[in-house]
Amino acid sequence: MTYPLPMGRKFPKIKIDLEKCTVPFLCKKCLQICPEAILHVTRVMAKEKRLEEMDPRIDGNYVLFASRPDKCTVCNLCIDVCPVDAIKIEAPSQVRVKPKVQGEQWGQ
Ligand code: SF4
Ligand code: SF4
Repeated sequence: MTYPLPMGRKFPKIKIDLEKCTVPFLCKKCLQICPEAILHVTRVMAKEKRLEEMDPRIDGNYVLFASRPDKCTVCNLCIDVCPVDAIKIEAPSQVRVKPKVQGEQWGQ
């Protein structure tokens, strides 16, 4: 008998639309509600601006990112709270393959 193999992605895929979420530093609703503390805001580190202070009110100076998607429970709280519908989460696609009796793969 062969053992089942996990196939596909093991954890959720979190997509953040940066065209919609333009000033995350001023919003942070999703960060505050996430029970797993997965979402974070960081400043954009453009080389020529790395020593400058970045104004969080200017679009694109800060970005939202998900640090540990493996911890996401797909509770969808962040999606519900986002005012601009910027977050999409795809649940894990992992499926367990049915074990085969040894020799079955050879048609015996
Ligand atoms: S779905 Fe839930 S656990 Fe996952 S990032 Fe959103 S709030 Fe956090
Ligand atoms: S709730 Fe939406 S708009 Fe606000 S920081 Fe999160 S993704 Fe961006």
